[in-house]
Amino acid sequence: MARFIQADISRSALQHNFQLVKSLAGAARVVAVIKANGYGHGAAEVARSLPEADIFGVASIEEALELVESGIRQPVLLLEGFFEASELQEIAHFDFEVVIHSRDQLDKLLAARLEKPVTVWLKHDSGMHRLGFTSERFRLAYNDLVDSANVGAIRLMSHLACADELDNPFTEQQLDRFESASADLQGEVSLANSSGLLAWPRSRGQWVRPGLVLYGCSPFAASHPIANKLRPVMTLRSKVMAIHQLEAGDGVGYGQAWRAVKPTRVGTVAVGYGDGYPRQAPSGTPILVNGERSQLLGRVSMDMLSVDLTHLPDAKVGDPVVLWGKGQNGDQLSASEVARYAGTIPWVLLTGITSRVPLNYHD
Ligand SMILES: *Cc1c(COP(=O)(O)O)cnc(C)c1O
Repeated sequence: MARFIQADISRSALQHNFQLVKSLAGAARVVAVIKANGYGHGAAEVARSLPEADIFGVASIEEALELVESGIRQPVLLLEGFFEASELQEIAHFDFEVVIHSRDQLDKLLAARLEKPVTVWLKHDSGMHRLGFTSERFRLAYNDLVDSANVGAIRLMSHLACADELDNPFTEQQLDRFESASADLQGEVSLANSSGLLAWPRSRGQWVRPGLVLYGCSPFAASHPIANKLRPVMTLRSKVMAIHQLEAGDGVGYGQAWRAVKPTRVGTVAVGYGDGYPRQAPSGTPILVNGERSQLLGRVSMDMLSVDLTHLPDAKVGDPVVLWGKGQNGDQLSASEVARYAGTIPWVLLTGITSRVPLNYHD
């Protein structure tokens, strides 16, 4: 018998979310972002489930080569470009497309001798101040790219810092800055991550770059009509492995961080921070048992956590538990909601699933 923990990955949910992305994107093409092992869902399997994606976005050449080795034939975009000039030969050989975000990268690209030109996504720093060229330098870089035999198509991109905050005026400022910096430059435009795509139509351009929404999580803190149509792709599930009856005053788990104030039935569940469930999730964090909402009690340990079964008198050892995803009654507990309780974000929860959690793919 195996330990009960597993992550079910729904290909049909992934497809559904991708089609929602397509319908919002209109004529724009889709960079399906599958960095960090497909946000914890398995990059190659996610790629195989998205035959209509125009290109896949990854964070490094290692992630790109893994896709090639898995037989993925769609193009791949390195979202941070290359880290060392030695990567350029493979980039040209495999037709990987590259972001160029700094003068250092640009000089290395211009100086290389490549077997064929590469497609460059030139990154403008419109206000995030993480990667990219500020406006005048952006133009200079563009001119250098145009003149280089190493460069094929040039696309123009930037990244939004606050698009998940629906009332934050900074997004419009970023779009203004980008538009004036790129006004008379030829090239297709890419600005929108998940929140840009859903909430800022002006950011959609010719290429959208959704990550999180593909996996069925909302990038917004509040309820959002489009985000409500997403379907969770990952269901992190386990089972009740032990049950204890507590009296008032009894404590649960390390530090006895939660204490019963009345007789309480407590289930021990085979999942912990060693699987990627957040240790900082407090008592009260929602958990589904037999499809019913219940709550976490006490501290999360490495391999186990405790859940309240007082209102579920029929619950028994072996009963199914969903930490996030889809319960058997169709009830959904989104990773975004769990993340909110834990004081973190759904990106962290999904990418934090550890290698000991088996991923089971189904349609
Ligand atoms: C990760 C990433 C994305 C996807 O972001 P989401 O918020 O998950 O949609 C888009 N663009 C770039 C440059 C990224 O690094």
